Amino acid sequence: MPQENTSSKILLTADRTLMSDYHKNIFIGFGTCAPPNFLPNWLYTWLFFPPIKTKNGIPVAAPYGLRKIETQLLSEGFDVLTVSPTHLKKHIDGAKVLGIHVMDPFGLGPASTTFAFILKKEPYLAQYFRALLASPEIQRAKKRGLKIIVGGQGVWQFLYRQKFVERYGIDCIIAGEAEKVVGDIFRAALKDEPLPKYYEVPAKDSPSLEEIPDITKPSIDGLVEIGRGCCRGCQFCSVTVRPLRWHPIEKILREIDVNVDSGYYRSVNLHAEDAMLYGSKNTIPNDEKLKKLHEAVVKKCDGMGWSHCSLAAVAAKPKLFSEISEIILQKQTWWGAEVGIETGSGELAKKMMPAKAHPFKAEEWPEVVRNGMGLMHDNKLIPACTLIVGSPEETEDDLIKTIELMDDLRGVRSLIVPLFFVPMGRLKSEDWFKETQMTKLHQELLVKCLNHGLYWVNELIDLAFTQKWRAQVVRQFYRVFARIVRYRVKRAGIVGEADN
Ligand code: SF4
Repeated sequence: MPQENTSSKILLTADRTLMSDYHKNIFIGFGTCAPPNFLPNWLYTWLFFPPIKTKNGIPVAAPYGLRKIETQLLSEGFDVLTVSPTHLKKHIDGAKVLGIHVMDPFGLGPASTTFAFILKKEPYLAQYFRALLASPEIQRAKKRGLKIIVGGQGVWQFLYRQKFVERYGIDCIIAGEAEKVVGDIFRAALKDEPLPKYYEVPAKDSPSLEEIPDITKPSIDGLVEIGRGCCRGCQFCSVTVRPLRWHPIEKILREIDVNVDSGYYRSVNLHAEDAMLYGSKNTIPNDEKLKKLHEAVVKKCDGMGWSHCSLAAVAAKPKLFSEISEIILQKQTWWGAEVGIETGSGELAKKMMPAKAHPFKAEEWPEVVRNGMGLMHDNKLIPACTLIVGSPEETEDDLIKTIELMDDLRGVRSLIVPLFFVPMGRLKSEDWFKETQMTKLHQELLVKCLNHGLYWVNELIDLAFTQKWRAQVVRQFYRVFARIVRYRVKRAGIVGEADN
């Protein structure tokens, strides 16, 4: 691609729920999926998504995906600045193009729809995204010709919100891995050339490892990608269409250096769809590469976490998992990861995620979950788990098995969050799960999950906030928050079991 210098400025940003480092605990970010509730807005936003620190309106860190686009554009010679959404006013006058990073812009993601159903209100993340687009500074800049380009994981939601796109004058939406196409699209925007309204990056344009640039500025919570793609092919997932690629250790360490050298983060979050499979070409973990990665990372920083990992990979190599745990626990007492359970039924697993249990058989899924979760508990990995509620082929028998599984997992230190089925991946033409389809069994499952969370929440809060005095203060607020939730659900007759 030709290098060029343009005099026009490109601004990149994200709404306030994404421009936060969540008290340096990335899983707290789940709180942005909730709607306003019994806590005053100012207190809730401070607890779950306090604004990121800025210097002259420039955030000290930004979402990892936004950093990748920033680096790509810089490498192609564009004049780019990433700004905090609350400081756009200061910078927007000279800008010709505004790039906005999104995750769940309308609250249509599984977690947000579930919370919105329970609390009957629009989630915070949707409110803040709309507030960003509706802000007077963006509206003014739009009138003088500002182009708006949107990208990020949640862009599929714009297909359901065409009126919003028209109303707020969004010029182009990019879906998929954009490194190879983003330069051409921003170049066209700067030249006032026509832009595609919705551009889905074809799989053939997914960048190779060499074509993915290193971030050059810090990413929120020290997130660093170790690989892309997944080979398990679950039907409800869109990740699976992307090829599986793992970054070399040297590249991962370079990006960790960017975060650590900033002085802002001493810990790293290793991001992949399954961190246990680092370096592997299939569903069997690669002992040598996985150990080498963790040994190298632990020397670089004070702590680490994983974004996601699979129960099957943990259950497939328990000894390796313990060895990895030993490496990680040299500098910390626990670590976290997001983990998909999705169902307790082997039959349903076979239909909607036939390779999720691999190398075990799909029918063995409930056993894989029990083993994997037990290993995580013993080795101090705290999973934030998801269950899918209301998938198209779910039967009463499947739900009963999931409820039974919840009973078996009671002793496993974890959060288990039920998510209403959202049509994505190969199931994108299926119907959404609607509240009118909610049965007594669905309700029972939701209550089990709530009970499980309330049973473990205090221990999790204590583990998450152990360090400096500031963390201790924040911890007290979370404890009060958890106490109020427990009181309210007890009063509503939903939960009656003892605290942990
Ligand atoms: S294992 Fe996870 S990332 Fe992979 S296809 Fe299934 S849901 Fe998607």
